[in-house]
Amino acid sequence: MARPKNNRIVYEPPSYTEFKPVGVPVKSLEEIQLSLDEFEGIRLADLLGMSHEEAANEMGISRSTFSRLIVKSRKKIANFFFYGKLLVVTGGNIHFRQNIIKCADCGHMFKIDIRTKITTCSECGSSNLLSMAGNFGHGECCRVAYLSYNTKEKI
Ligand SMILES: [Zn+2]
Ligand SMILES: [Zn+2]
Repeated sequence: MARPKNNRIVYEPPSYTEFKPVGVPVKSLEEIQLSLDEFEGIRLADLLGMSHEEAANEMGISRSTFSRLIVKSRKKIANFFFYGKLLVVTGGNIHFRQNIIKCADCGHMFKIDIRTKITTCSECGSSNLLSMAGNFGHGECCRVAYLSYNTKEKI
């Protein structure tokens, strides 16, 4: 019997989710999907320069799983660069640690711990708030996952 797959931890929702070569219409481009965990792998290993060990810890997966993940991610990005594709960041079995909230009224963006709940914008007081984690279907699930993750491992 296969063990249920644990959700991986992704620090926060991405700020940009679609990338394309300049001057080519979107509809003529083939789409490559980079899952949120693959995207996070690039951030940890390549942007922040973490070792596979550190990055694996951060995402709550084994080092060998991370090493396979990062190879897949880099391959997709190389394909994007050299074959001119539409790259879309989406999906994956993940939960977030932190959320990004955007105020629909004043446009103010702010980051909050996924465990905290806020109802009004700190800039203008509006309650018209958009959850970026919500764009990926995440919310309460991440809070619960983060809390149970934290009881097993110190962060
Ligand atoms: Zn506001
Ligand atoms: Zn979640």
